[in-house]
Amino acid sequence: MSQSVRKIAVFIIILVILFSIGSIYVSNKIETLRDKAYTELSHEIKNELELLISEKAEAVLLVALTLSHDRSIQKSLEKKRYQNIHLDDLSALLQTYTSLKNVWFQVIDKNGISFYRSWTSKKGDDLSLIRMDVSKMLALHKIMSTISVGRYDLAFKSIVPITDKYGTFLGMVEVIAKFNSIVRKLNQKEYKTVIVVDKHYKQQLLSHSKSNVFIDDYYIVNPQGNEEIVSLLKEYSVDTLLKEKREYILDTKHHYFITIMKKNGIDGEPMAYFFVFKPIELLDMQSVEKEKQNLILNLILLFLAFVVFIYVMYVTNYKKFIEKQNEKLNIAVEEKTQKLQEQSQKLAYLAHHDVLTNLPNKNLLIDRMRQAIKHAKREGTSVAILFLDLDRFKEINDMYGHDIGDELLKQIAKRLTSYIREEDTLARIGGDEFVLILPSTSQVNVVVVIEKIFDAMAEPFVVNNIDIYATFSIGVTLCPQDGETPEILLRNADTAMYKAKDNGKNSYQFYDEEMTALIKKRIELDNDIRLGLQREEFEVYYQPKIDANNNKLVGLEALVRWNHPLKGLVYPNDFIPFCEEVGLIVQLDSYVLKHAFMQMQIWQNQGIDYGELSINISTKKLESEDFRHELYTLLEHYPVDPTTVELEILESQIMKNPERSIGILNSIRSMGISVAIDDFGTGYSSLSYLKKLPVTKLKIDRSFVVDVLENEDDAAIIRTIIVLGKNLGLDIIAEGVETKDHVDFLVDAGCNKIQGYYYSKPLSIKECEAFIQKYSKG
Ligand code: C2E
Ligand code: CA
Ligand code: CA
Repeated sequence: MSQSVRKIAVFIIILVILFSIGSIYVSNKIETLRDKAYTELSHEIKNELELLISEKAEAVLLVALTLSHDRSIQKSLEKKRYQNIHLDDLSALLQTYTSLKNVWFQVIDKNGISFYRSWTSKKGDDLSLIRMDVSKMLALHKIMSTISVGRYDLAFKSIVPITDKYGTFLGMVEVIAKFNSIVRKLNQKEYKTVIVVDKHYKQQLLSHSKSNVFIDDYYIVNPQGNEEIVSLLKEYSVDTLLKEKREYILDTKHHYFITIMKKNGIDGEPMAYFFVFKPIELLDMQSVEKEKQNLILNLILLFLAFVVFIYVMYVTNYKKFIEKQNEKLNIAVEEKTQKLQEQSQKLAYLAHHDVLTNLPNKNLLIDRMRQAIKHAKREGTSVAILFLDLDRFKEINDMYGHDIGDELLKQIAKRLTSYIREEDTLARIGGDEFVLILPSTSQVNVVVVIEKIFDAMAEPFVVNNIDIYATFSIGVTLCPQDGETPEILLRNADTAMYKAKDNGKNSYQFYDEEMTALIKKRIELDNDIRLGLQREEFEVYYQPKIDANNNKLVGLEALVRWNHPLKGLVYPNDFIPFCEEVGLIVQLDSYVLKHAFMQMQIWQNQGIDYGELSINISTKKLESEDFRHELYTLLEHYPVDPTTVELEILESQIMKNPERSIGILNSIRSMGISVAIDDFGTGYSSLSYLKKLPVTKLKIDRSFVVDVLENEDDAAIIRTIIVLGKNLGLDIIAEGVETKDHVDFLVDAGCNKIQGYYYSKPLSIKECEAFIQKYSKG
């Protein structure tokens, strides 16, 4: 049985039980209410009966009292003229005008002799002997009012003494009335009443009784007109009815409500019983009915409330149940989804990775290569593909077994990974073949990485406590120089790797053999420059700047030279571009800055006026983070006058990112240092930026000066630069000035500051000092 069916069954059972309890309660309650109503009704009936009886008794007494004061009766008694009493008329009057229908009179003298009876002519007999009440009256002269069973049946009786005006007892008057009027009155109210005399009067009543009807020895006073009731009494048996403890009897069979009132005699013994019958349908049970309806209504309401309550409980429980189920379902779905996702991720991972080393596999490698190639094309940089092949891996496998070989591969992968940058990709594409992608790199950088790899492999790998040495042969190919698709690049790198193996293991080879040679040279140069910086092989020369108007020194430009131990004096064009390419320019500029500041301090201390000293600064240096700090420190260490310091920045460089340059130049200017734009005219300055740039000087490029006399265009450019500079409030200087004609042209055009061989080539410190001596301002 399903849970919901069981629930519904339980629910129905509870409903049935509740309904039964409710019904029992209601019927009990109605029963007690009915009982109460019936009891009250029976009390009412009894009270009414009592009232009627006492009214009747009173009426009888009243008549007796009135008669006792009747003068003619008194006189008759005094004079013993009994024949004078005539009460027949009174009897008729009473019958006509009052409820006393059957009433009898009897007058008895002071000796107990009855001398008048209204119902018979019989008189003169002595009653003192046969009637207790009469003898009592004779003795006590007291009013006696009773209900009693007489010779004929039940009757009201009042005996009142008659006295003369002096109070002398003359006799008595007796008034007797029957119960008929009471019964009649009750009948008018739909109460069928039967009067029954107790059975101990049976003997007394047997002979003289009027009705002659007895049931269970009980005498029925008024059987006439009450035949139905009499037959019912017979059916029930009077004895049985009298045994009833309750105030009333409900005869549902004959539809009668029966009340029994008992009347005792003067001796206190039961005398008579009034059986009052009323048809049940005539009873006023409206209040009970109303109460019953109320109860049923309340029960139904209660029941409905309960059903609603159960329903609400059920619905909320059901809702909760559904919610719980939903929650469970959601969790399950989520878990499943997550599992699926994890599985698909795992699958994707497996599809793109080498199970042994967890490195990207060939698929992912190709993908990454494509990305790197795209990126390089966009940025105009190079991608290097390194094909790494382990030397003698087959021997290692044969010697130690495949498990150790595998473990070795794992360790190698781990070690290599720790040596490469995040943006590089190391993949395993075959047994002992690895490929490394170096995006955005240069040849030099490639060699640096290769050296690192060789260094990393110099340490042995420890597998199962065995020290294993492993080396790589590496083939390198560059994109876009050697190819532009992953397939071509991989093939080329593979070829280069075989060449490397031929050249002897543990070596590398570029695909382009000339490249290999060139690279080797560049690496040598790189090392040489680093060493040269360490060994202070670089020397700063100073080229004078002259005011052509007065042939006086304006300032100097610091120009670096390299005193190479083997090659001799090397000029900047042979190493500055390389330094810029590999980043060494930052160190070199620092070197020159430091030596220039040192020299300026010496000259200032010696009182030598060098005017202003220009120092060439590469953009790499200018944009390096600590450049400002470096200048501060220099000024602190060599406290020269900052207004004698000028930095020369190439126009082409400054215009690459003018917004950024503005910020840096501003902070330089705030230190009091001047800024000149070098090689001006070649860098396509934007006029709007030129206005914003915090520079102080324009240096007309040598290329315009060289041909100025032959080339009208160059002359026009020079004139334009001079006008532009003047309009912007900038200082102008010309470089590369070699002849007197050049000087004349420039002075004529408005530029009198001149730098060039015409006055002097760059000079060593000693030579420069001599020059200053000769051209000093003073
Ligand atoms: P530059 O800044 O334009 O320097 C002027 C170059 O022109 C110098 O060459 C100088 O010797 C040469 N020169 C001067 N007068 C004449 C002349 O009348 N005729 C001819 N034909 N040439 C003349 P140098 O010293 O070989 O320097 C070459 C370039 O190297 C410089 O060009 C500058 O861009 C760079 N450089 C030199 N020293 C430094 C340095 O310390 N730091 C940086 N970043 N660059 C430097
Ligand atoms: Ca310069
Ligand atoms: Ca220049």
